[in-house]
Amino acid sequence: MSKIAKSVETFFTLQMPYCENLELRRTVFSGGIGPRVAVTAGIHGDELEGLHVCHLLAAWLERLSATHPGRLRGTVELYPALNTLGIDTLTRSLPVFDTDLNRNFPGSPSGDIPHRIAHAIMGSLAGAHLVIDIHASNIFLREIPQVRINQDFADHLVPLARKMNLDLIWLHSAVTVLESTIAHSLNSSGVPCLVVEMGVGMRITPEYCEQLVTGILSLWKELGILAPEVELPPQLHHPLVADDSNVHYLNAQTSGMFVPAASHWTDVHKGELLGTIVSPHHGEILSQLRSPVDGILFTLREYPIVYEGSLVARIMAVKPRRI
Ligand SMILES: [Zn+2]
Repeated sequence: MSKIAKSVETFFTLQMPYCENLELRRTVFSGGIGPRVAVTAGIHGDELEGLHVCHLLAAWLERLSATHPGRLRGTVELYPALNTLGIDTLTRSLPVFDTDLNRNFPGSPSGDIPHRIAHAIMGSLAGAHLVIDIHASNIFLREIPQVRINQDFADHLVPLARKMNLDLIWLHSAVTVLESTIAHSLNSSGVPCLVVEMGVGMRITPEYCEQLVTGILSLWKELGILAPEVELPPQLHHPLVADDSNVHYLNAQTSGMFVPAASHWTDVHKGELLGTIVSPHHGEILSQLRSPVDGILFTLREYPIVYEGSLVARIMAVKPRRI
């Protein structure tokens, strides 16, 4: 019976000014000559859902290694923490350089440190059959499990995204897409990359992580990374498709404290109260947020303090499922 080789590899080292080294690591599971896939996470240091997904995938692969090692046909690479400095210091951006690492791709080998890190990540992922880049919103907003896709790459990526056991595929028009992200750089270089957004920053949502793990394993089986006889839980989620035409943004009309009246990931009706913005000094309600359409409340403010104009909710217009 063939074996699964597991290793933790350092693919980038940078000497820090005093005496420490910054090391970027990946965990590699090799089981055969089949395709090579990767999962990346933690490019924003305050987004932790993907770290838990990497743990769950590693645990699943270690169980497979102990019971049915011949059923891994390809290579899986897990990159749980691309922004290690950010994760260590509870910082979204790259500390010291005060830049969003996900705005420095594809990077360069001789540029400043953020560009060098980006370049090393691109080099490490070159030639992969599929990359799944996991994000966790930020500390302000909670998101349902979803894939976000640039329209330019939709033909190839949407069929893959449909098999990931998620609840939403959100297609973004090319004009709103940032070209300096890891996903855009990989897709432009011929490495398919799906961006997952789910949960909320600085937290983990175990049920979302488990839902995504089922989807990732199903997709890997479909791609021949896992053997056909691998048994997986059924996919219980089937995505709706959103785009610029059916997503409504709700912004705070006043500054203050947002108190939700509706629950995240529920059907809402046109005119339904979603929450109020209040002042801690007075009993009055400063403003109310009501749904402009019948739809699904797929983004909801998690952090209560809002400024005028802050994003509070996003609703996808669809016919409600409940009557
Ligand atoms: Zn992110």
